[in-house]
Amino acid sequence: MSIKLIEKNKEKISEIEKERKRLIKFLVSDCKLVEGSLRKSLIRCGRQGCHCEKEPIHPITRISRWVNGKLKNKIVRVADREWVKSLSDNYKKNKKALSDLVKLNEKEREIIKTVIKLKTLKYE
Ligand SMILES: [Zn+2]
Repeated sequence: MSIKLIEKNKEKISEIEKERKRLIKFLVSDCKLVEGSLRKSLIRCGRQGCHCEKEPIHPITRISRWVNGKLKNKIVRVADREWVKSLSDNYKKNKKALSDLVKLNEKEREIIKTVIKLKTLKYE
């Protein structure tokens, strides 16, 4: 049994626990989210005589998300663009934090398995 190796792994776990605490604190915080990705594009307004008759020039922002296997799009009102962008960014950050947490759990599991191995004696 290597005390030194076990201590080293305990340090690693305590680092992981700090990171996990940070991720969970963020994940259960009260920040609001909007599901979907934002995409900017140019459209024609349809008004006669507008420059956009030649090519689309009017900028719009769409938010799209998957609903029952279908991609649903919705145009974001100009007045809503800023807050929808910020809430959509929050959504991405939450998804990322959750996936980081899953990876962290897996990493910790491997370290604990190593510690268990190190602690294990053979009764012979
Ligand atoms: Zn136009």
